[in-house]
Amino acid sequence: MRRELSVAVILTLCSGALVESASPAAHPVPAADPFMTTAPAAPSLAVSPLPRSGAPLALGAPDVKRHRDSPRDPCPGSSEWSVAPQDSPARAVASVGPATLHVPVLMYHHVLPGSQVPAGERYPDLFVDPAVFDAQMAALKAGGWRTITTRRLWDAMRSGMAIPPRTVVITFDDGRPDQYTYAFPILERYGFSATFFIIPGRIGTSQHMTACQLREIAAAGNELADHTWNHGDLTTLTLEQARSTIRAAADAIESLVGVRPVALAYPYGHYNSTVEAAADAEGNDLAFTTRHGALESSATRFAEPRLRVNGLERRPDGSYGAGTTGQSILWLLSAYAGA
Ligand SMILES: [Zn+2]
Repeated sequence: MRRELSVAVILTLCSGALVESASPAAHPVPAADPFMTTAPAAPSLAVSPLPRSGAPLALGAPDVKRHRDSPRDPCPGSSEWSVAPQDSPARAVASVGPATLHVPVLMYHHVLPGSQVPAGERYPDLFVDPAVFDAQMAALKAGGWRTITTRRLWDAMRSGMAIPPRTVVITFDDGRPDQYTYAFPILERYGFSATFFIIPGRIGTSQHMTACQLREIAAAGNELADHTWNHGDLTTLTLEQARSTIRAAADAIESLVGVRPVALAYPYGHYNSTVEAAADAEGNDLAFTTRHGALESSATRFAEPRLRVNGLERRPDGSYGAGTTGQSILWLLSAYAGA
């Protein structure tokens, strides 16, 4: 039985202005902050653990989004939220049989107007203009593509049931505010769901979404998933340290939205056998890399590939060329469209 989580939720009203600037700390460079930032001590609030398994399978249909009844509530009161990492036992892992699915998993980072990308940004390729993102989603919609979350993908793998052709998982890494400001409304417009790999240790900081924004995204039918507590390079940690940062993020997400994540994305895409063992030991169903590919298999469920969607393509000589467009995303996916 899992131990109860000690959670402190502190809501404060303030201006609500969103910080939309891009981060210079792009994915390929490990963060400098120390391992495991501990939140300040605060009164405890017991949160009951939830069952790990999801809803009954309904694989013939995409995830059903719950559309909001009212216009966007832009999280007028920003939320200061903290949760202290806890030491809790890992969950049991279900045994699985091999299953390989042609379900591409798209990987996005920033969705931000080109005019707002900081001059001298080290990794401009990670930024997709909202107009381009809109065109990509329009192309997916027109092409008959549907979205599912990683939870549904695992359900299909576990059960052995087929997923309809033209099914895709859309993922966003790092929990950036521009994902809320620009990507989320576009996803809503097309009725698509996505999986957001977030860094709970940075929730509410200037370069990351607030707890309020994350809850709104989750309430709209999207999935919050584990990108570790503070985005440290897992390959530099011991097994226990890797388990701890993965577990702390999962605990925080569960306390934030009431659902424990089933998937992990490795920071910087870095992983090795120890990291895979940590992902497994902490009860994840799937773990995603930045390795290019779209064959998702239960035989490699802790090293699943993704398809990177970039605003620009970085050439071997360091220069940049045109990135993924509204049409080329269909070319990217065409090999994986299924029957
Ligand atoms: Zn990341």
